[in-house]
Amino acid sequence: MASTTTTTTTTKIAFFSSKPYDETFFKKENDATFSETDHKYALRFLENQLNEDTIKLLDGETVVCTFVNDIVNAPVIELLAAAGVKIIALRCAGFNNVDLKAAKAHNISVVRVPAYSPEAVAEHCVALILTLNRKTHKAYQRTRDQNYSLNGLLGFNLFKKTVGVIGTGRIGQAFIKIMLGFGCRVLAYDVYPNESLKELGVELVDLDTIYTQSDIISLHCPLIPDQNKYMINEQAIDKMKKGVYIINTSRGGLICTVDIIKGLKTGKIGGLGIDVYEQEEKLFFRDLSDTIIQDDVIQRLVSFPNVLVTAHQAFFTDEALTQISHVTMDNINAIMTTGTSDPSRTL
Ligand code: NAD
Repeated sequence: MASTTTTTTTTKIAFFSSKPYDETFFKKENDATFSETDHKYALRFLENQLNEDTIKLLDGETVVCTFVNDIVNAPVIELLAAAGVKIIALRCAGFNNVDLKAAKAHNISVVRVPAYSPEAVAEHCVALILTLNRKTHKAYQRTRDQNYSLNGLLGFNLFKKTVGVIGTGRIGQAFIKIMLGFGCRVLAYDVYPNESLKELGVELVDLDTIYTQSDIISLHCPLIPDQNKYMINEQAIDKMKKGVYIINTSRGGLICTVDIIKGLKTGKIGGLGIDVYEQEEKLFFRDLSDTIIQDDVIQRLVSFPNVLVTAHQAFFTDEALTQISHVTMDNINAIMTTGTSDPSRTL
């Protein structure tokens, strides 16, 4: 962190939805920046999701640090403002869970970490594709059980397959470069086409071309509810090639899960790898192994042999967590010391 400004007041930060790894990385960042005996920031880690009920857990904190599934809607923001909160620091890139208008109305600054490690997410997409295709998860179990049969493990070469990428920002571009390395033909669609990708051999196309020609479709655009919610729906799936793989590490709401299930049942969709799910806030980031899951849709999804669900772990690398904690603390420190933060990280 750049600033070394000293002050006698200690700013308190409450981390909602925090996990042991958040505590490890943020404490390390705080210690690395400020003397261990004279911390400028007092960090308090709460396991609870931020919502209207958990605001009462605040204990004089003027900064709240939130993650993807915290509820930061207008009623929550009103309560945060009443509790004296001045900064909402998102330790993630996506901000579809935050009511920015309400934050502005209450003069609360909202900052985020726009890019921490696009490669972390892009590499996870490749892990999803390779696992679904080459079935290494099944081979791992089989060989432990002395089952050395190959039946049911047949995959396909990625070489020369057509990969459709929707959203060519930081993660989309990192993913494209990996897939080009596999020798894939890459089609890309973005509302703001990036012409420089043509130099890499990427074909910039419209959505219909992505849907009709791709063997694998990977989503890398943000969820903007009134623009692209459920963009992967029955009509889009109808246009796709039989056996298409769909990979989603962006946001669950981009996909209509009920329509995806129909496509999986008919065999139109050959594989689904998702790191995000539209109802994930009720499930992800906790161990529910001894509870009865009420969400029948996720239960149906995980029953398919050609579906791989990971619980929003694409970002989860050492490099990404180091960067997230560094940028988040830097965002908070910048506002506390100068009143503003880097415009690219301010919402
Ligand atoms: P980015 O802002 O760099 O790129 C997003 C791109 O999508 C931009 O080029 C934008 O023009 C394009 N876009 C916007 N709306 C579009 C639409 N309707 N159709 C097609 N393209 C559209 O973002 P990024 O860093 O590459 O992140 C992409 C998404 O990945 C984020 O929005 C976030 O939801 C998700 N994400 C997931 C994880 C995870 O752990 N699973 C981690 C980080 C980010």
